[in-house]
Amino acid sequence: MDYESFFKSQIETLKHEGRYRVFADLARHAGNFPRATYRDAAGKPCAVTVWCSNDYLGMGQNAVVLEAMHKALDEVGAGAGGTRNISGTNVYHVRLERELADLHGKEAALLFTSGYVSNDATLGTLGKLLPNCIIYSDALNHNSMITGIRNSGADKRVFRHNDVQHLDEILSADDPQRPKLVAFESVYSMDGDIAPLHALCDVAQKHGAMTYLDEVHAVGMYGPRGAGVAERDGAMGRFDIIEGTLGKAYGVQGGYVTGSAALIDCVRSFANGFIFSTSLAPVLAAGALASIRHLKTSQTERTRHQERAATLKRLLTDAGLPVMPSASHIVPVMVGDAKRCKRASDLLMERHNIYVQPINYPTVPRGAERLRFTPTPLHDDAMMAELVEALRDVWAVLELKLAA
Ligand code: PLP
Repeated sequence: MDYESFFKSQIETLKHEGRYRVFADLARHAGNFPRATYRDAAGKPCAVTVWCSNDYLGMGQNAVVLEAMHKALDEVGAGAGGTRNISGTNVYHVRLERELADLHGKEAALLFTSGYVSNDATLGTLGKLLPNCIIYSDALNHNSMITGIRNSGADKRVFRHNDVQHLDEILSADDPQRPKLVAFESVYSMDGDIAPLHALCDVAQKHGAMTYLDEVHAVGMYGPRGAGVAERDGAMGRFDIIEGTLGKAYGVQGGYVTGSAALIDCVRSFANGFIFSTSLAPVLAAGALASIRHLKTSQTERTRHQERAATLKRLLTDAGLPVMPSASHIVPVMVGDAKRCKRASDLLMERHNIYVQPINYPTVPRGAERLRFTPTPLHDDAMMAELVEALRDVWAVLELKLAA
């Protein structure tokens, strides 16, 4: 086989469909988020405003977090130096797991190197361990959950997105004696909609199924202590497993699951993605710990974040731009075509020094390509006015559809 030609043809297909990913080379400015230096293909630098970061609250630049990380680096050095079992458990991991268990009101927590690994490893392990288990998965679940479920080898049923009735129907069709697990997210990050947690738990409970909630796009941002939508809705106790990330609103890196002591001990003891991997660098654990503690008591970031998101939605709507309905902090604007979505993103950068990544298939369905804005507490009114003007210009140049 001509391997090189094969690989090149795969890439050509992506380029032809407008789906080829070009990474923006960015240097974020510590202390001046959301400003960054962007370098184009020739390496030429230019100052830009970032509008699509998942550092939702700007905690990646927060002084308390940075100080904790500097201190930990000086104290314990760079890497963890091993897997958790073989010399790689640091005092910061232990403290962080206690903090996370407390955050979600669970007996125990377990850290992973990313949210992706936490979903993949935990769902993969539970589906394998529970004999003859069936996993019910929301149709829009993240790739990490889908992969974990597939890797578990358990039978899988997909229920229509956020459709409580459909979940009830498919649960009713299965043998009541078989172990069951229902897995879904709280905030869906591409549309910004929020799952009806209590209604889904009611159905799961009726059929004796366990419940698994991914709060990756909610932790830090919702609930009085930042534990997520389940905390906000008074539903934390209804979930057997709550999963989250330390890489988005907490501004650092890593993932975790929380649950009962016995369940977490099982994941710790059987999950390959946990056992056979060097543990999270202690400096990251120290930063995440500081971030969680800060957001447990401070409401300033959460309040301002919600206000900023509401303001941006209003400004874009007033300007006639096709803002998609969103119940959360995510602000998606529909383009509906892969090539034009990429072109809109390029023009925003070239003409206005605004960086927003186009969201194309397979992240969203074909024909639903969009620009996805994530206003943070640090995006001020001037930045918002600049963005609205820039979008109106790009919409005119590309003759894109305004809102009906
Ligand atoms: N779960 C969901 C719903 C996500 O959107 C993501 C990442 O975007 C992850 C899990 C993975 O988290 P991490 O970025 O920490 O690997």
